[in-house]
Amino acid sequence: MTRNHQQPEVNIGLVGHVDHGKTTLVQALSGSWTDQHSEEMKRGISIRLGYADATFRECPEMDAPERYTVAEECPDGTESEHLRTVSFVDAPGHETLMATMLSGASIMDGAVLVVSATETVPQAQTQEHLMALDSIGIDNIVIAQNKVDLVGDDRARTNYEEIQEFVSGTVAEDAPVVPVSAGQEVNLDLLIQAIEEEIPTPERDPDADARLHVARSFDINRPGTRADELLGGVLGGSLVAGELTPDEAIELRPGREVEHGGQTEWQPITTDVRSLQAGGESAESVTPGGLLGVGTGLDPSLTKGDGLAGQVAGPPGSLPPTREAFTMEVSLLDRIVAGNDDEESTDVEPVSTGEPLMLTVGTATTVGSVTSARDDECEVALKRPVCAAAGANIAINRRVGARWRLIGVGTLTE
Ligand code: GDP
Ligand code: MG
Repeated sequence: MTRNHQQPEVNIGLVGHVDHGKTTLVQALSGSWTDQHSEEMKRGISIRLGYADATFRECPEMDAPERYTVAEECPDGTESEHLRTVSFVDAPGHETLMATMLSGASIMDGAVLVVSATETVPQAQTQEHLMALDSIGIDNIVIAQNKVDLVGDDRARTNYEEIQEFVSGTVAEDAPVVPVSAGQEVNLDLLIQAIEEEIPTPERDPDADARLHVARSFDINRPGTRADELLGGVLGGSLVAGELTPDEAIELRPGREVEHGGQTEWQPITTDVRSLQAGGESAESVTPGGLLGVGTGLDPSLTKGDGLAGQVAGPPGSLPPTREAFTMEVSLLDRIVAGNDDEESTDVEPVSTGEPLMLTVGTATTVGSVTSARDDECEVALKRPVCAAAGANIAINRRVGARWRLIGVGTLTE
């Protein structure tokens, strides 16, 4: 199969403390940012997480690291060669968004931890994001020691040692630490080299059933469009397995809530794929990586206003069960992730029977009530069902004061 060169083939999380330079770094590597991604904005498929695609290239005539670039032209005037398009997922400061990122295990194939050389290590979110990577077992990590243009050699060296000491004993223990300046675009070749070496494109099973996590859904018709000219509903999301092609039939779960005889029940919806958009272009087939737009034969009133966000799509009959309750293994963070600098971190108390939790499973967010809690396992009954397989990652949020705060991650057991 020939790949669409523009379609990203791997998703890389950008994590680290606020203001350490995540967005600047992605800008430097991709020359674009989701806010300015006009095509995506128009199509509305950029989900609330920031996604930005970057294409890594190389100048075959040059040695490493100088051969790595994002420029299309090499210093000698020849054209650089395409290596790989990657999709960066910017970790939002907001923890409900962080929950979406953490629960979509397959949304992140590796991570770049950005640490500013201008501050002592670790700052609150540096620590908490690393803890989160540790809990979900993301171990393909590159550390970008950023803003080295602002510090002298001594400070850069001390900071480097602080980073090494901080990551020792964690999943990032063996991660390369690359000094960079995102602002001044210094050492980006070294960073690209490290990403190429440490964060490979995962092996994908070409025969696996397609599995689309729907993050957004839309009605793209202008008001007043004649019924016979209406385009079907559009799904935006991330393919985590398999391949999608136009004309194939798909099923969505949990589907739609139907009432009969005073009882409500969730029924899967079936439709077909009409068109595909990936990396800003229409595509004949799509494989995992980055964000997709999927035109379908669905009634647009179903997809309007994110009506199908949080659902899972795949070949009919292949999807995991719709669950109104499940059991999960729980791994709590040591401390609650601070939403911003002004907040104190607090210790996380164990989960207790009867308490409400907000659970993010893939792209679905649902509130559940704990029906039974043991040390590292609990059962929850959900207000709104989710479609999820055993082994799915779950981000667990607890109500603290007026807000939901991320307290840990879980794995669905049954
Ligand atoms: P984020 O919160 O991690 O996304 O951080 P931003 O990318 O928004 O950067 C925060 C601030 O640091 C901005 O004012 C950037 O211009 C600045 N900044 C980012 N990287 C560098 C760098 O390498 N050098 C310098 N001097 N400033 C930087
Ligand atoms: Mg940012």
